[in-house]
Amino acid sequence: ERAELALLRDAPAVTLDGIVIKLEANIELPEEAHAAMAAGADGIGLFRSEFLFMGRADLPSEDEQYEAYASVVKTMQGKPVTIRTLDIGSDKNLDGDITVATNPALGLRAIRYCLANPEVFATQLRALLRAAVFGPVRILIPMISHMHEVHAARRAIDSACSELDARGTPYARNFLLGAMVEIPAIAIAIEPFVESLDFLSIGTNDLIQYTLAVDRGDADVATLYDPMHPAVLRLIAHTINAGERAGKPVAVCGELAGDARVTRMLLGLGLTEFSMHPQQLLDVKKEVRQAHSNALRVKVASALNRAERIDLSALSG
Ligand code: PEP
Ligand code: MG
Repeated sequence: ERAELALLRDAPAVTLDGIVIKLEANIELPEEAHAAMAAGADGIGLFRSEFLFMGRADLPSEDEQYEAYASVVKTMQGKPVTIRTLDIGSDKNLDGDITVATNPALGLRAIRYCLANPEVFATQLRALLRAAVFGPVRILIPMISHMHEVHAARRAIDSACSELDARGTPYARNFLLGAMVEIPAIAIAIEPFVESLDFLSIGTNDLIQYTLAVDRGDADVATLYDPMHPAVLRLIAHTINAGERAGKPVAVCGELAGDARVTRMLLGLGLTEFSMHPQQLLDVKKEVRQAHSNALRVKVASALNRAERIDLSALSG
């Protein structure tokens, strides 16, 4: 079985009806980019940069971050690298950060934290812009819920560029800017976001948590944490459809994207870009190559129109 999957590594991820699917890797540390390349990933769909910041007393300097991001970009040899800006807060806290929010998952997390700590954000942005000299970089902003956060993030990037200009440090301006779709509000009112951004990436881990009001890490309510709830799937479908209409790429980078049992269902929602742990990539590719995308889209759309649960067994074969 493993030998068969190894053969798949260099086979294209194309459905039976000729739809080309991008399969990318999620990484938490720069070294993991090698595993992404070994699995034949089309790029890095999610680099969770917060892991550079966690488990230490101080913050990583601009140069230290630059080295980490540049090493991933170089390892990927021209394939796109999606680097998510710091997603700290909630279940991922900085050491020594003793302020505990009343409700951390709804508090000063991710882009909210970065806009409240502009020096931390600016340092990371300068490092990202410098690393983009070595290949295509996509900057991904987590936990966006308001358009004014998109505007503020863009202003922060512009001033990071000005700082690098003033210093005479080389950097690249040709990065793409995107947002995580992981708060239901943005999925419901997606149009302005899809218009003003270059790409979107759906974070199903948080999207499920916030849609169903179920803490993603709380074992007592784990049975209610249901990726297949029709409300969750409608939010994913709505986001994919808006991207399709606007001609902007939409990926899923939550755990759902790496679960080969739901690959057909995601193809049926119209998904063409999946990002997952490198180890899951070949199992998902195998499913893609045996699926008929347009037939799946018809089946999934009719179930979602009636807000019915999708029967996964009806999608196979
Ligand atoms: C998500 O929320 O689905 C996601 C990919 O981000 P994280 O798991 O790091 O919150
Ligand atoms: Mg998330």
